[in-house]
Amino acid sequence: MRDFISQRAHAIPPSGIRRFFDIVQEMDDVISLGVGEPDYSTPWVACQAGIASIEQGQTAYTSNRGLPALREEIGRYLKRRFGVTYNPSTEMMVTTGASEALDVAIRAVTDPGDEILIGDPSYVSYGPGVMLAGGTPVLVPCQAKDEFRMTPDTLMERITPKSKALLINFPNNPTGGVMSHDDYRAIADVVVDHDLMVISDEIYTELTYEGEMASAAEIPELRDRTILINGFSKAYAMTGWRIGYICAPRELCDAALKIHQYIMLSAPTMSQYAAVGALRGGDIAREEMVTEYQMRRNMFVRGLNRIGLPCHMPKGAFYAFPSVRDTGISDVEFAERLVTEQHVAVVPGSVFGPAAEGHLRCAYAVSRDDLRTAVDRIGEFLETL
Ligand code: PMP
Repeated sequence: MRDFISQRAHAIPPSGIRRFFDIVQEMDDVISLGVGEPDYSTPWVACQAGIASIEQGQTAYTSNRGLPALREEIGRYLKRRFGVTYNPSTEMMVTTGASEALDVAIRAVTDPGDEILIGDPSYVSYGPGVMLAGGTPVLVPCQAKDEFRMTPDTLMERITPKSKALLINFPNNPTGGVMSHDDYRAIADVVVDHDLMVISDEIYTELTYEGEMASAAEIPELRDRTILINGFSKAYAMTGWRIGYICAPRELCDAALKIHQYIMLSAPTMSQYAAVGALRGGDIAREEMVTEYQMRRNMFVRGLNRIGLPCHMPKGAFYAFPSVRDTGISDVEFAERLVTEQHVAVVPGSVFGPAAEGHLRCAYAVSRDDLRTAVDRIGEFLETL
């Protein structure tokens, strides 16, 4: 059978997150801080809009680009939140989750041999996504000393004549690091000087806690060379609905749209209606959720520091990213022993790239009670070391 499998499929590793998820499913009494998924249900206004669309028989494909009403709402949202303007008819398309958006964006710009610069650590799909497109991932470390932001100097060091695009994600999975408007501006000069384009995955942008919510597209020089990716999974607790989107200058958007036409036709129709509902009426539910995440973050991160696991205060997403470097064991051993001995599942940082080694990704999208218990159990585990 092996002979039938393509070299590209063979070369990519299985997702390290899923491995931990599988372990958890076989155990009782596990507190899982493993999977990055909101613990909320989708705001009811969004569900109602989805249900109504089914009741009204809206069950056929939409246009390839997505429902016009949804694109209009996305356009209004981006204008309101970031002051950026995209034409819903020519510069926007709706995708099956940010996951599909990432795939088509990468494939729209990558030729074999192109180097795609990726912030390290990164979401697990980035490296494999680039490899499947025939490109070479080149990692740009985002370090604890910089609060896990990307700096122009480290970016510059990794650029070669083969560099084509920069793929970034802020607020970041797994570090919770955030880029402010000025941080984006600082890398914009490097991007323009080296004629790179940017793929900016801003799926966690609504989960920004210290008032620094920013988009790469706010920087005019970047806006015209950026494929902006966002979606509904995190901001509106809509992971199962599978709706994301791409905004980009017309030519880039057209290239991505061609790929989307062939592989997906259109994103799920009822989910697109639900997303319209979320943008029209889901703000209060979203704000409540974000406020709660912030409380949990404060409580959990303080708890980790109290028991002796150093952890910076992440400014975005819903991940705490403590260091286990002082414990004398690796992040992988820590995570494996923690789940078997104390029934707390976290993901070892090294799954997300070399810069994350010696850290754990702990998703705090679980109840405060569970977070308290998790801190106690991690504390007990530390005492056994
Ligand atoms: N990008 C990042 C950084 C993510 O963390 C995730 C989901 N964990 C995705 C994209 C995929 O999101 P979606 O559910 O919209 O496909």
